[in-house]
Amino acid sequence: MAQSVKGTRDLFGSELDWFQRIEDTVRRSFHRHGYSEIRTPILEEIEVFKRSVGESSDIVHKEMYDFFDKGKRHVAMRPENTAGVVRAVIQHQLLATSDPQLLYYIGPMFRYERMQAGRYRQFWQIGAESFQVSTPESEAESLVMLYDFLRELGLAQLTFSINSVGTPECRPAFHEAFRAFFRTREAEFCEDCHRRIEENPLRVLDCKNARCQAALEGHPVLVDFLDPASLEHHVRLKEILTTLGLPFEENPRLVRGLDYYTRTAFEVLSTDLGAQSALLGGGRYDGLVKQLGGPQVAAFGWSIGLDRLVTLMQQLHGKAPRQAPPVLIPLGPAATLKALELARGWWAAGLDVVLETRGVKLKNALTTANRQGAPLALILGDGELDQGVVAVKDLTAGTQETWALDTVQERLADLRG
Ligand code: AMP
Repeated sequence: MAQSVKGTRDLFGSELDWFQRIEDTVRRSFHRHGYSEIRTPILEEIEVFKRSVGESSDIVHKEMYDFFDKGKRHVAMRPENTAGVVRAVIQHQLLATSDPQLLYYIGPMFRYERMQAGRYRQFWQIGAESFQVSTPESEAESLVMLYDFLRELGLAQLTFSINSVGTPECRPAFHEAFRAFFRTREAEFCEDCHRRIEENPLRVLDCKNARCQAALEGHPVLVDFLDPASLEHHVRLKEILTTLGLPFEENPRLVRGLDYYTRTAFEVLSTDLGAQSALLGGGRYDGLVKQLGGPQVAAFGWSIGLDRLVTLMQQLHGKAPRQAPPVLIPLGPAATLKALELARGWWAAGLDVVLETRGVKLKNALTTANRQGAPLALILGDGELDQGVVAVKDLTAGTQETWALDTVQERLADLRG
């Protein structure tokens, strides 16, 4: 029997309920802030990722689903969506005026990952990207949207971890100081860090190796090397977060290792499930649009794993609350035709009703209704039809009453509240 491809899964039932609830919350709360959805293709030319995420990154180097299509184009299934969004805003000249572009996306991403708990080869991300906004206030706006969205999902113990990675202009001085520091204790760093200190020193700061983290004690910090404007930006963002009551801590080791990142880098940490863990990350990437062939514009964004959020929701709240609709059970062909007409009117009035269409015996139909968690069964036999009523069985209490057919719509609407 065919099985889903390793690392992918089918979404249905209560897991999908959570996906949809979160997606609804995203749309509602992001639209409130004036963000519009963007949907870019899953397939992109591989260059889009090579030129943005970078050829040397694990994502591009090891984890990309790339292949040559029948027209011999080298394409990849997107491993993330920022590059695609940037490609799209350039292609469609959305940055032709100086107006801000506030965009968000929700969609599947693909990475050929080693299998482990919570990591999939097809997974979902939600992200927000704002273009042509360069102020700390614009970052705060995006962070407020993110924070309030996570709070709306019931996550209460959230802290922003923030840093500034400066600009390409102020980084050489930091690199020099940092390399000098590294040399004083180079034997304590792992082999990868020895490579990183040459290629991209910032990456040493977020090495996962505990020995390297210990060796970093007392390292020079980027914030001390910021140009005056970047420092002012950083100080202002902290001021705003303080005023707005968004909890944050500074983390001088928080870096986004790619060259196009500038100034603000952040993560959201949560202790909602015990040990503190990073829920997501993001930052300012003023260099990326140009790097992908567009104009020099300011940009800020972040992305969060939806699968991860769903797991959190399940652990915190169990199943997504869902009320199964009442079931209308007609008995016999005449009642079934009438039931179709009645139900159609109720559906048109915006009411939820499941119609039993199998023509099975009442006992069978009630068993199914019970299994589906229906609160009520509306039973319509020829006798009820003649009298213009329906028998209504409360499936929780086991009681039964009779409703006049012309009152059902109103009663169902009242029940829904
Ligand atoms: P990244 O793009 O690696 O910074 O990840 C951004 C978000 O996507 C994080 O919240 C991760 O939890 C999530 N994520 C990344 N890779 C996977 C994966 N293979 N399976 C599930 N979630 C993932």
